[in-house]
Amino acid sequence: MNPDNIRIVLVNTSHPGNIGGVARAMKNMGLERLVLVAPKDYPSEQANWRAVSAIDVLESAVVVPTLDEAIQDCQFVVGTSARERRIPWPLLDARSCAERIASASSSEQVAVLFGREDRGLTNDELKVCNLHLNIPTAEAYSSLNLAMAVQIVAYELKMLSSATDSPTDEQEQWDTPFASMENMERFYVHLEEALTDIEFLDPAAPRQLMYRLRRLYSRVRLDEMELNILRGILTETQKWVQRGQDPESGGPYT
Ligand code: SAH
Repeated sequence: MNPDNIRIVLVNTSHPGNIGGVARAMKNMGLERLVLVAPKDYPSEQANWRAVSAIDVLESAVVVPTLDEAIQDCQFVVGTSARERRIPWPLLDARSCAERIASASSSEQVAVLFGREDRGLTNDELKVCNLHLNIPTAEAYSSLNLAMAVQIVAYELKMLSSATDSPTDEQEQWDTPFASMENMERFYVHLEEALTDIEFLDPAAPRQLMYRLRRLYSRVRLDEMELNILRGILTETQKWVQRGQDPESGGPYT
């Protein structure tokens, strides 16, 4: 496990006190990289006050306008959520998920996303994630305070970093680097375009197709080489469609 490769990403946080509380929870557990996506009220005295001796974590926090910018160089992204969702996604509890985060962090950039105090992460934000993490709670009230949710995840990571035998690293057992989120997003744009070209996807009635395909590829975790092969197939498919539509070309349908 390498804590330097793990960033905690807070999306659209409303209360600066929570940002300070998160910084403290992180430093207590040995995490230092905090990314704030469009915080509502920051910098703020209240954040500094709640951070106490973790002010350095706040000072080195990176503020970005969009989630894309927060995670584009990551190969592994985890979204935390208190809610049940309509479409199921690979979901683990905090302890099991910490193992996956710890093992990926040995050689990959990892982001753990935390949502807004009032409505968490949106479905669109959750669908960029490889895995979803849920902290088990009493049924009657499943939504934890933001900083407390970060505390629990950071604690589970701390327990793993203190353990003698570290979890096995998926990347170390693989020969090619896993694809970055930036390249995965480019792939999804290309895939959607090609599926539209071959009329498998009807943009007027897309249903849940792209959502389901994202879930498929997130579950598999493509490496850079596999991603390039798929992009090559899409490009060739598009060329065939083009040739078929052009009567001059002597394409496949002539
Ligand atoms: N009402 C919101 C909860 C927001 S709590 C919702 O339905 O999702 C703010 C953030 O704390 C959440 O977005 C999530 O990142 C984290 N969080 C709170 N409770 C959690 C739980 N039980 N499991 C995982 N994350 C949780």
